[in-house]
Amino acid sequence: MSQVIEEAVRSILREIGEDPSREGLVKTPDRVARAYSFLTKGYEEDPKTVINGALFVEDYSEMIIMRDLDFFSLCEHHLLPFFGKAHVAYIPKRHIVGISKLARLVEVYARRLQVQERMTNQVANTLMEELDPHGVGVVIEAEHLCMRMRGVEKQNSVVTTSTMLGIFRSHQETRQEFINLLPRR
Ligand SMILES: [Zn+2]
Repeated sequence: MSQVIEEAVRSILREIGEDPSREGLVKTPDRVARAYSFLTKGYEEDPKTVINGALFVEDYSEMIIMRDLDFFSLCEHHLLPFFGKAHVAYIPKRHIVGISKLARLVEVYARRLQVQERMTNQVANTLMEELDPHGVGVVIEAEHLCMRMRGVEKQNSVVTTSTMLGIFRSHQETRQEFINLLPRR
């Protein structure tokens, strides 16, 4: 697989007017192949088992929030990075999940080609399905280099997406409690 990527990278280099055999570029195809392998390793992981494997029965029914989860992803339209913070909240019904698994879940989805809206939905839906809580809220704030480097949007624009499920969708107060606990920018 990586040899195919390496050859493709050499083709790109030639097409943009570079010489793939010059010293600075000789190892580039190999580096790019390795980088893509790392940046897309989320395809090899099952997000459901990330959650399933770490469920605990606990009599706790207040909101649990994990804020400021750093993530780095690649936009599927340009293969350029978008990155930022994910904030994940849920209200347990019967099960809670190990806190670190929320970060892992975000990472599994981030390490695939993505659009921010879908990634937000995927994190929320997976938690809703595997954890069966009263509700889930996910907010993602990200900067997209495909917009900033190409000057399409204002230079400092941050895109915010949110998915609210269950009680986070049906109860304004719950949603507001979550929003109020998010960091102010
Ligand atoms: Zn893009």
